Amino acid sequence: MALFIGVDDTDSATGMCTTYLLTELIRELDFPVLLGFPRLVRLNPNIPWKTRGNGALSMAIIGERSDAVPIGMIGGRRVMSSETPSSEAPCQEEVLEAASRVVERLAAFHDANTNPAVVVSKLRPDGQIYWKAVRELVSDDMALHFLSEAGGIYRKWKSGRGIIGATASISWVPRDRSYEIISYRQRERWGTAREVNAADSAKLSALFPSTFSNYDPVNRHSCIAPASPCPVLFGIRGNDPSVLESAMESVGSEPRDRWLIFETNQGTDDHITTPDGGLELFKSYFIRGTVAGMPRTTEGGHVFLELTTSHGAITCAAFEETKEFRNTVKQLIPGDIIDVWGSMKQGKIGITFNLEKMAVRALAKKLVKESNPSCPECGRRMHSAGSGAWYRCRACGTRSTESVFREEERTVSPGLYSVAASSRRHLSRPPEREAVYVAGGSR
Ligand code: ATP
Repeated sequence: MALFIGVDDTDSATGMCTTYLLTELIRELDFPVLLGFPRLVRLNPNIPWKTRGNGALSMAIIGERSDAVPIGMIGGRRVMSSETPSSEAPCQEEVLEAASRVVERLAAFHDANTNPAVVVSKLRPDGQIYWKAVRELVSDDMALHFLSEAGGIYRKWKSGRGIIGATASISWVPRDRSYEIISYRQRERWGTAREVNAADSAKLSALFPSTFSNYDPVNRHSCIAPASPCPVLFGIRGNDPSVLESAMESVGSEPRDRWLIFETNQGTDDHITTPDGGLELFKSYFIRGTVAGMPRTTEGGHVFLELTTSHGAITCAAFEETKEFRNTVKQLIPGDIIDVWGSMKQGKIGITFNLEKMAVRALAKKLVKESNPSCPECGRRMHSAGSGAWYRCRACGTRSTESVFREEERTVSPGLYSVAASSRRHLSRPPEREAVYVAGGSR
């Protein structure tokens, strides 16, 4: 038996982090043994009311077990985990009380956009609520329906919208998974500049090849430390949890207050679906299309590309922050066939399909009009005869009946291209994970 606990929507853009709150909950519950790893589950990245990465937290706790192994350290005490449920589970009501105390102590209630909730359940709710919450817009009522079907109980504050993330997090049955070790700052340093050795983060992928999204070599940007004033020091993502503690130790930094390894859906593409009709706002899709116009670059360096697809015409957007990815988009021409991964978003310039990555499948021939060919009659150089692609020989009056083109070599090659590592979404599967991905594009 196990008891599933989910919590969400406790933080604000100016402080706190629900992953930290979970570490405090482990302390409040006096270090129960966890079933597997605690979970950091990213949900629909397109919802307008998320604070940052739409992360929801959960863990399953069990009774004492002799086979438990350490997966974290809080206040000098080890957090223990076992893969086997115990014969008895902790009391549902007592755990809800403890979790509520922690939320009341730590949640950023002052922020109008912070609407916490805690859920506790002896059974995992049906996994469908996870798939809906990672791909669609979900109502509080729908989440409550799934929770109550599993016999779960909850406590909520303000609008209590966190019930959606909290329920989805405990219901997740991984199709694909990754891990993240998160280390936290000492409390007195919160809000100050972080001391994390960027050069060490650049070495991580070579030293620990199963880790990913550590460093953006093109833009020389360390991706492991957040920029917000939250309690997180840095996080290292990977496919193999057993190397993450060593990876963390290899990065020089200010003193760590605590650390914990999470199981996550980061880097899985779980948010992406193949459309079965028209494309809807707030959803993320994988679509094949044909380039319908030359790419346009606007002020600010954003690049737009018209694409014809069997689900209608879309305007793909590669915004400035996608960095070098835009150079590939700019090289496309009408007739190219590409696969795109991204989201339907409403922005200042209307509805766009915001690109996360693209696969160039087939390249059209790039034909360039030959300037002034030789006259087939007298051999002299011909001249353009107006707006068409025709030519006229001024010497003998001969008109060419066909325009003359030459094929220009394409500068882009077929292959997979992703936005800069520093602007990648948490859920987006990075190039480093393509090889470990086994389950197929969509569910
Ligand atoms: P952080 O990443 O820093 O933890 P956040 O971006 O997760 O912050 P939250 O403060 O958790 O932001 O707010 C997200 C809110 O959106 C939560 O209340 C969550 O329950 C809700 N939510 C998550 N997924 C969906 C969805 N698919 N439909 C509707 N609401 C959702």
